[in-house]
Amino acid sequence: MITLYVLGSGSRGNCCAVESEGMALLIDAGFSAREIERRAVSAGLDLGSVAGIALTHEHGDHSCGAPLLARRLDVPVLTAPGTWRRLAGVMDEAQHRPLGLCAQVELGPFSIEACPTSHDAAEPLAIVVRGSHGVSVGVAYDLGRPTTAVRYLLRNLTAIVLEANHDEVQLRTSDYPPVVQRRIAGSSGHLSNRAAAELLTDLHHPGLLAVVLAHLSEHCNTAAEARATVGPALRRAGFRGALHVADQDKPLAPILVVQRGGIQLQLAL
Ligand SMILES: [Zn+2]
Ligand SMILES: [Zn+2]
Repeated sequence: MITLYVLGSGSRGNCCAVESEGMALLIDAGFSAREIERRAVSAGLDLGSVAGIALTHEHGDHSCGAPLLARRLDVPVLTAPGTWRRLAGVMDEAQHRPLGLCAQVELGPFSIEACPTSHDAAEPLAIVVRGSHGVSVGVAYDLGRPTTAVRYLLRNLTAIVLEANHDEVQLRTSDYPPVVQRRIAGSSGHLSNRAAAELLTDLHHPGLLAVVLAHLSEHCNTAAEARATVGPALRRAGFRGALHVADQDKPLAPILVVQRGGIQLQLAL
């Protein structure tokens, strides 16, 4: 069993956690340490159980709370080598464990895998965490485009946190200058609602029980728009699980992902 905590997601900060057998792993720490502590309390996540902090990449909305939290919790930080080099000046004495294509990490009850993503950062990753009994959670945001490696990493998961950044029409008609629009929509920018729907349709399998749409743009998307684009496409693919949309400003209720007797159940608490 894994409990998934989505403490918040968007361009002003991203942080989620998986918890199993009394241990937790933070995936991204893109709020201040104090804000992550506050959100953990309100979501019911015990930060004392955190065994490590995995970072997808060095951008502040994914990493800014990590240096202080790693020190306070006295836990290792898991990143790609290139991300670690970029963060070298701020990580103090934190212990580093490399993540990447050839570096599967075992931490407590978790087995953590990652693959490169297409994004304008040093060495960005999508991350998959497997717990006991084959339950698995993938986290992928800041995806310029879903590469073959990302599709391969995210196959056969129990739950997926996936970027649905913008509505393509809202982006085109936004106040962003054309150069910024091109960067967001480009192959090292962010995934649109439509692209997220296509990727999720491809990734769907009977064991996929929970999908969380994340990293929504405040200016070019709404939760309703993301849900309206992705929901029907997923249902057409046969998805019968729970579709959630992450909030920038507050945590979602914990999502319990359980497997019993070979049949996986997903309960939204
Ligand atoms: Zn980024
Ligand atoms: Zn981001």
